[in-house]
Formats: sequence, C-alpha cells, structure tokens
Amino acid sequence: MSDCIFCKIVSGDIPGDIVYQNDDVLAFRDLNPQAPTHILVIPKRHIATINELQDADAELVGKMYLAAKEIARNEGIDEAGYRTIMNCNAGAGQTVFHIHLHVLGGRQMSWPPG
Ligand code: 5GP
Ligand code: ZN
Repeated sequence: MSDCIFCKIVSGDIPGDIVYQNDDVLAFRDLNPQAPTHILVIPKRHIATINELQDADAELVGKMYLAAKEIARNEGIDEAGYRTIMNCNAGAGQTVFHIHLHVLGGRQMSWPPG
C-alpha cells in the first residue's frame, strides 16, 4: 500500500527505530510512547484491520505474539508484566490502518482501559 506509513517503514522509505524483525514481522518503537516501553509489532504484508484477517493469516498473527514475547524479554519487562493491544477501527482508537500489536510496559498498567 503506497500511502500506508507502516508499509513505508517496512520498505525503508521512512525511518523506524526497529527493535526486531524476521521474514514476516517487523517491530519498532512508537513515535508517541504511552509507556517507558512502547513497541509496535506489524506484519510486513499490509493488512488494514483485524476484520480483514483470513484463516490463512493464523500463523502470521501467532508470529506477531511470539515477536512480542521476544521483545518483552529483550526489553526486560517480561517478568514485571506488559500489555499487548490491537485496536480495530476508529471506535477502538485505531488511527493507522495496517494492523499492529502494541507492546506496552515499564510502568503499572490500569484496568479497564480508556
Ligand atoms: P493506533 O491508534 O492505530 O492503535 O496506533 C497507532 C500508533 O502508531 C500510535 O501509537 C502512534 O503514536 C504510532 N505512530 C503513528 N505514526 C507513526 C510513525 O510514523 N512512526 C512510528 N514509529 N509510530 C507511529
Ligand atoms: Zn501498510
């Protein structure tokens, strides 16, 4: 998707503070962090929202969570705890329409979310 900022981070057209990647998944620090650790895990392939996920994407979504686990360990937040969130559509606060798993940690999280 030529007009998608996260696709541009995948292609290198715009910079990202990349912390992890493999063949399918890329992870980089959020530009506007909401916690001491705030990293976004994305599939390298463009998928707009959770609603567009297909059965064939099941392994890809699993790889996003395995990346989150790895990142949490690398960031040293795995034992204290961290939150993973994927917002779907505007009502949930999605502003970038390329799915991304937020990985937030380094502070106490509250519940319920806003
Ligand atoms: P959403 O609101 O869609 O769940 O999350 C989008 C996230 O992407 C926000 O936390 C926002 O700060 C982050 N973001 C938006 N544009 C950029 C960008 O160009 N680079 C990075 N690293 N993060 C971005
Ligand atoms: Zn995209």
